[in-house]
Amino acid sequence: MPAVLPEDLAQFDWVARSSRPLIVCDVDEVVLEFVTPFIAYLDHKGLELRPSSFRLHGNVYRRDDGTPVSDRDISASIEAFFVEQHDWQTPVASAAETLAALKRHADIVFLTAMPPRHFAVRRALLDAHDMSYPMIATEDEKGTVLHLIHGDRDTKVVFIDDIFHNLHSVRDRLPNAFLINLMANDTFRALAPHPGEKVAMAKDWNETRDLILEFLEN
Ligand SMILES: [Mg+2]
Repeated sequence: MPAVLPEDLAQFDWVARSSRPLIVCDVDEVVLEFVTPFIAYLDHKGLELRPSSFRLHGNVYRRDDGTPVSDRDISASIEAFFVEQHDWQTPVASAAETLAALKRHADIVFLTAMPPRHFAVRRALLDAHDMSYPMIATEDEKGTVLHLIHGDRDTKVVFIDDIFHNLHSVRDRLPNAFLINLMANDTFRALAPHPGEKVAMAKDWNETRDLILEFLEN
């Protein structure tokens, strides 16, 4: 499948014509591990994440002299990590099997907040782990993107993400969407504030599956 840039959302016009429910699923920390392999990547570069709050910026230090790493350098490390993601990121437990089972009940689309220039390497990585669902890579607001592809249909929509800003963005544009907060990394999940009203919380894909099936059946 070719790279999908935000202006190419016409490729997703099949969604608005479908009568099936729609599951829109984030990638990092939801179907691919991000925090855990990023900590390993930082370690490989002589850096250490000390998770004292629910963020990467401000929590990374140089191992040799203990000095903090600037926000700009952390952002550069994330960018470099995305370039090499295929060597580091692994699937979240049970993600592929659960999505394969849910495919019988709903259309599935990945919506990843990543610069579109990394589309091809992420596409190949997901394909290699049997998660070949159509993917949009964009840094636009997820609520805006989801509203564009879903339109004003009455069909049920599920949105799964680890970042509250994204969940709230979808809640603002699609008030009837069923929102699930899922985050693979135990340490960061424990540090996270409550995701807010109308957001269900799941600690793993088994809980996510049960929540989705209950929502789709009612
Ligand atoms: Mg994520």
